[in-house]
Amino acid sequence: MTMDIALVAGGAGFIGSHLCRALSERGFEVICLDNLQTSRVSNLDSLADLPRYSFVEADIVAPLPQAVLDKADRITRIYNCACAASPPQYQADPEHTMLTNVVGTHHLLRLAEQTGARFLLTSTSEVYGDPEVHPQVEGYRGWVSCTGPRACYDEGKRAAEAMTFDYARMKRAEVRVARIFNTYGPHMHPDDGRVVSNLVCQALRGEPITIYGDGSQTRSFCYVSDMVEGLIRLMESDIDGTEPVNLGNPQEFTIGELLSKVLAIVPSDGGVTHHDLPQDDPRRRRPDIARARSLLGWEPRVALDDGLPQTARWFARELGATLPLAVA
Ligand code: UDP
Repeated sequence: MTMDIALVAGGAGFIGSHLCRALSERGFEVICLDNLQTSRVSNLDSLADLPRYSFVEADIVAPLPQAVLDKADRITRIYNCACAASPPQYQADPEHTMLTNVVGTHHLLRLAEQTGARFLLTSTSEVYGDPEVHPQVEGYRGWVSCTGPRACYDEGKRAAEAMTFDYARMKRAEVRVARIFNTYGPHMHPDDGRVVSNLVCQALRGEPITIYGDGSQTRSFCYVSDMVEGLIRLMESDIDGTEPVNLGNPQEFTIGELLSKVLAIVPSDGGVTHHDLPQDDPRRRRPDIARARSLLGWEPRVALDDGLPQTARWFARELGATLPLAVA
C-alpha cells in the first residue's frame, strides 16, 4: 500500500515528537528528520512503535539527505519544527540558530516546490518581540531587537516567515505559518532552561527554584496536545495560507502565579532564588486567537490546572522522583 508521507523536520523534539505520533494516527507515513541537537533520544524511543515510520538523522542546514529525497514523490506534507526554541539553547550557537531558520527553511521550501507538498512553518510569538500591543494579534508587527541575544531566533524566524510568504506569493509552494506561543507538556527536555521545565524539575529535585526578575512578567501556556491539534488543523485547512495564524492558550499568568501552581503540585523545601531578568525578556505575552477560532474552529481545551499535573507526573517518572499521592 502506498501512503502519503508527512515529513517532520525537528520530529524528535518536544512538539515534533507529539506531532509525528498524531500524524501517524491520522494515517500518514511519517519521516522524522532531526539532527538530535536539542532533542532527546527517549522522544525517538516513544515513536518506535509507530507503523510506517522512519527516522533520518540530518541537519536541515545541510542539503537534504538522500533518504528523504528517495521518498520525495510521496511527500505531501512538510512540517518545519526544527529549531532549538529555549533561550539558553538557541543562544548557545546563535549562528546555527539563524542558519536553521533561514537556510533550513529554504531547503524545505525547495522540497515543497519540487514535490508540490504543502509546507507548514512553525514560527513563534517571538516575532512580536517585547510587545507594545496586548494581546498580540497577527497584524501587529512586533518590537524586536535585531542586535540583542534573542535576535538569532526572533529575526531568524521573521526571515523564515518572509521567505515562506514569498514562496506563497510567487506560487512556488502552498504554505501555512503558525505562530506558536509558549507550549509545555511531556517530552520537554528537563534541562532545556524553559520556565515550566525548570520550575517543575527544580521542585522535584528539591533544588532552589529560579525566578528571573520579580516574577511579574507574564506568559500564556498551551498544553502540547492542543498545540498539535492546532498545527494539523492549520495544515489541513483550505484557508488561503498567506496570513500567519497564532496558536496558543490565551489564559495568561504571571511567572509568580505559575510558581504557586507548581509548588501546589510539587511541594518543595528547596526555596526560591531570584536572578536578573534576561536581556530583552518580553514583559508580557498572550495570544489573540480569534483568527484560529474562526478559520480553524480551534481553541485550546486543556487548562494549566489540568496540564501542569500531567506534565509534573511525566517529569517525575523521567527523573525518578516521587510526587505527593494526591497528584501521583
Ligand atoms: N523564567 C524564570 N525562571 C526560569 C526560566 C525562565 O523566571 O528558570 C522566566 C523568563 O525570564 C521568562 C519566562 O520565565 O520571563 C518564560 O521563559 P521561557 O524561557 O520559558 O520562554 P520565553 O517565553 O522567554 O521564550
